[in-house]
Amino acid sequence: MVSPPRLPAWDQVPIKRLLREHTRFPVTVDNDATAAAIGERWAGIARTTPSFAYLYLGTGIGGGIFLDNQVYRGRSMNAAEFGHITVEPDGPECYCGNRGCVEAICCPSAIEAAMGGHVAHAAVCAAAAQGEPGARQVIERVAGRLADAAVSVVNMLDIDLLVLGGPALREVGEIYREVIARAVSSRALARRLHAVRVETSPIAADAAAIGAASLVFHATYAPRLGTLLSG
Ligand SMILES: [Zn+2]
Repeated sequence: MVSPPRLPAWDQVPIKRLLREHTRFPVTVDNDATAAAIGERWAGIARTTPSFAYLYLGTGIGGGIFLDNQVYRGRSMNAAEFGHITVEPDGPECYCGNRGCVEAICCPSAIEAAMGGHVAHAAVCAAAAQGEPGARQVIERVAGRLADAAVSVVNMLDIDLLVLGGPALREVGEIYREVIARAVSSRALARRLHAVRVETSPIAADAAAIGAASLVFHATYAPRLGTLLSG
């Protein structure tokens, strides 16, 4: 791992080798959001959907991409970093070096800051779900910025399904889903050609763990073009 966001003590740690040496098991390592997308393909809502994007809401905001049944990881396993799409050009600086990133505005610590810094993220979500106006307003603004990014993702990938998941979804998943679905159905370029479903993950809170377990199946059973050709 090289400079993992929000985990400064884990820079330059050869995690795969260390785990393999200490357990003597084969070890697979992946990005948590990509793992969550793989879990959704094997055990969640995307089982029959060849192309979809996964918006992962945890401590930070990440993503995963499946295109034509293949997981897309990118050159350095850092594809689908949806959290670092700029949605407010004059917004707060982000640790990534960019400005006004989705993550800098929508992650749990940003939501706490928007409430004045005195209310925990879980409590903000619970209050918003019960209709408390201040919390509801903060969550709806966050949903709007997530929706801005979601429209860009849908336009870029031309997918059928956008899944929302991760532990930070909490009780506000349905608020996020509604706002994002409305944006995608009214602002995505190909909206007259096909619908894009927006769904909350049925395994949202455990998505990354289920995904990590699914990685073993996926690495073993999913057809990969490169393997077929070299065979
Ligand atoms: Zn950023």
